[in-house]
Amino acid sequence: MYRAFAKTSSVCPVCLGVIPAEKAVGDDGFIHLVKSCPRHGRFDALIWEGGIVDYLKWDTAGSGGNRPEVTVPADAECPRGCGLCGEHESAGCCVLLELTDHCNLRCPVCFASAGEAGEGHDLSLDDIGRLYDLLLERGGPFNIQLSGGEPTVRDDLPEIVALGRERGFTYFQLNTNGLRLAGESGYASKLRGAGISCAFLQFDGLDDSAYVQLRGRELLDVKLRAVENCAAAGLPVVLVPTLAPGVNDNMLGDILRFGLERMPAVRGVHIQPISYFGRCGLPEPERRLTIPRVLREIERQTGGVMRAADFGGGGAESAYCSFHASYRRSPDGSISALPRRRSQCCCVKSSEAQAFVADRWGAHEVPGGELDAFDEFLASARDSTFTVSGMVFQDAMTLDLERLRRCHICEADLERGLVPFCAYNLTDRSGRALYRR
Ligand code: SF4
Ligand code: SF4
Ligand SMILES: [Zn+2]
Repeated sequence: MYRAFAKTSSVCPVCLGVIPAEKAVGDDGFIHLVKSCPRHGRFDALIWEGGIVDYLKWDTAGSGGNRPEVTVPADAECPRGCGLCGEHESAGCCVLLELTDHCNLRCPVCFASAGEAGEGHDLSLDDIGRLYDLLLERGGPFNIQLSGGEPTVRDDLPEIVALGRERGFTYFQLNTNGLRLAGESGYASKLRGAGISCAFLQFDGLDDSAYVQLRGRELLDVKLRAVENCAAAGLPVVLVPTLAPGVNDNMLGDILRFGLERMPAVRGVHIQPISYFGRCGLPEPERRLTIPRVLREIERQTGGVMRAADFGGGGAESAYCSFHASYRRSPDGSISALPRRRSQCCCVKSSEAQAFVADRWGAHEVPGGELDAFDEFLASARDSTFTVSGMVFQDAMTLDLERLRRCHICEADLERGLVPFCAYNLTDRSGRALYRR
């Protein structure tokens, strides 16, 4: 028995055809996305492990509303007509450049299906320049995520950052597994010197069992060395766990404590509950991780130091895509939650989201190395702030086109332009992709 309370659209996970969907309260009291494909039957995905009052309250501020400045005509029905098209309801803000399909790992879980034997190519510097130009035409400069594959398998990251800086891009986040940061002496300093703002470090826990299941081998030593090397080089780190039920969802408290102990080198933790797209070696469970459950686990595993009530939903994107809270560390080592603001991580105006991300997570230059009293105040405020955030990516079971239309994390693609991350990475049950080649 389901009690439907809202209508939306989704796709069939078998054929990716667009179909009507309902948000409904199930017998378990939780919120489900329920839909039927005329050819492939009925599907039900748990999307909120909480009641309807909590669900509706999560979005009381109302999200979205900042449309892209430049759009392109859709050549197909959403989600096949991205560019961004005129129906999109949020401006892009954080843009991924997939610099390479190569990777020095072959993780059992990888949305980009990178590191396949004998496959893959590097984007040429010319094409990267063309992508930056395209982003400027589409409303940039945006915050850039250098991604892949594994971007550090390329030796020309400094040139790639320089190409962007010449065009006015200022924030460059490196999405990395950390192997090269850990293994190559001086590499973190080189990246810091080249203008990388922050390392978004894949960090699945403090127990090797998580790495064996998610990454195919033991990697804890590598991750610890990567963090140490970044700290020594002054390259800010955000720890990014992919959270999988039964694998590492019991390791959240340890990850958060590890990060807090390494402030300000570690600026925060960004949690990605696992989504079932791309290459995913784990079976889809009936009870997926949802925002309320992750927040309850954070509260439980930190002994109430971080509380579920400290967190709010996204602003620039749909509130149901993300969660975030910021904490201030006092000189005695205790931490307290900062007042919630919509613009944390994501925000009302995407330019604010860009500024927020760059300020909280990025490296900061001090001209001439001199700090005046106000600079010192700002530096100490920043260094004593720790951000905990997360994004629940959508896959073919959970895709809600209302949410997708408010997406502000886009993939840059020379043919299509800007494509929302969850559309770009969408795959059907047999692994066939909507966009990714
Ligand atoms: S996801 Fe956005 S850009 Fe893509 S087709 Fe839908 S409305 Fe257009
Ligand atoms: S990437 Fe996916 S989960 Fe994140 S804002 Fe976009 S649609 Fe939402
Ligand atoms: Zn179907």
